[in-house]
Amino acid sequence: MISKENFSALIQDLDKDGVTLVAVSKIQPISSIQKLYDLGHRHFGENYVQELLEKQDKLPADIHWHFIGHLQSNKVKYIAPFVHLIHGVDSEKLLKEINKQAIKANRTLEVLLQVFIADEETKFGLDEEELNQIMENTHLYPHVKIRGLMGMASFSDDEEKVRSEFRQLKKLFDRYEQFDILSTGMSGDYKLAIEEGSTMVRIGSLVFGRRTL
Ligand SMILES: *Cc1c(COP(=O)(O)O)cnc(C)c1O
Repeated sequence: MISKENFSALIQDLDKDGVTLVAVSKIQPISSIQKLYDLGHRHFGENYVQELLEKQDKLPADIHWHFIGHLQSNKVKYIAPFVHLIHGVDSEKLLKEINKQAIKANRTLEVLLQVFIADEETKFGLDEEELNQIMENTHLYPHVKIRGLMGMASFSDDEEKVRSEFRQLKKLFDRYEQFDILSTGMSGDYKLAIEEGSTMVRIGSLVFGRRTL
């Protein structure tokens, strides 16, 4: 796990660029999350609903939980009462369900739309046309606030390729004046992501150490 000094230095660096760190704590024990919490950190990201529920139950209530995984419509109801930001919204069906659960939870839910930018088949996300369509229909989801976009670049050593994928997403992001969060960048590519306009990075292994499961 990252030292206290290195963590502070990372946060300071990100702050300088106005970038928020989401510490991705999937598969990490409660104790590791508590350590960063004790240093004052509040933004944590989880990929699995069940794991998030267990952790949320055991950790302080003022943590801002980000859901960064692929969310199934039938699981929205479990996280709707407390989730801070849902990063991976990739269908109108899911958006509709989030709106419904937001009403039940008596709150507005904040989300990011996930756009497909990599050339890998395994990654989820909307294409440009689907994004446009959703943005034309936001009136259908009055209890959802779309804060911006999320994307994952190709897992590649080719800097120019990764950079151009981030740049492509930033261009789409800039089309919508109401957007204020661009969630791009992980442990391996967050510096490039910030150079290409990221405002929120999702970093796991660099702060918690390698995931062993
Ligand atoms: C796991 C994960 C991360 C963090 O990955 P690291 O390489 O460990 O920093 C970021 N975003 C998503 C969507 C993830 O699933």
